[in-house]
Amino acid sequence: MKYKILVGVSNRHVHISKEHLEILFGKGYQLKVLREIRQPRQYAAEETVTLLGKQDLQARIVGPLREKTQVEILTTDQYVLGIKVPKKVSGDLDNTPGIKIKGPKGIINLENGVIIAEKHLHLSQEESEKLNLSNGSRVNLVHENGTKFNAIVRSGKDHLSEFHLDKDEAESLNIKTGDYVEIEY
Ligand SMILES: [Zn+2]
Repeated sequence: MKYKILVGVSNRHVHISKEHLEILFGKGYQLKVLREIRQPRQYAAEETVTLLGKQDLQARIVGPLREKTQVEILTTDQYVLGIKVPKKVSGDLDNTPGIKIKGPKGIINLENGVIIAEKHLHLSQEESEKLNLSNGSRVNLVHENGTKFNAIVRSGKDHLSEFHLDKDEAESLNIKTGDYVEIEY
């Protein structure tokens, strides 16, 4: 069986807590939706923040608000910012470095939460059951250009089938948003 999955390439971005949003943008601040993204209820916000480092970088906020602030940077950003960052699955913030983040109304000193997101395959609950995969499973994928890779599965409610990888990795593998990958059995 062939099962085609859409590719989504992510740039550096920030998931933010309510507390941190209010320090950076002011009390009661509400994010504005720039565009919806494929994962249910998630959106790229109009708001960007500045990551402070050896050289500063702009990063877009991805909504909605989360319990914990998490900064996802690109591999090459490490040299620009001057920090060493582990490759992690989203949400796993143990042993990750922090960073200073600047918004129009203030600065936060995030103690930890900076990661390079490991490439991953989102699947809905139904899709993962149909494919006999579960959250944390590993799958082999093949791109329409023949490139093969292994990725971790993230599934459950609020997920829809989509293969996510960051801009640096996508460029090195020569793949882009809107391409397709297939699960290899
Ligand atoms: Zn993702």
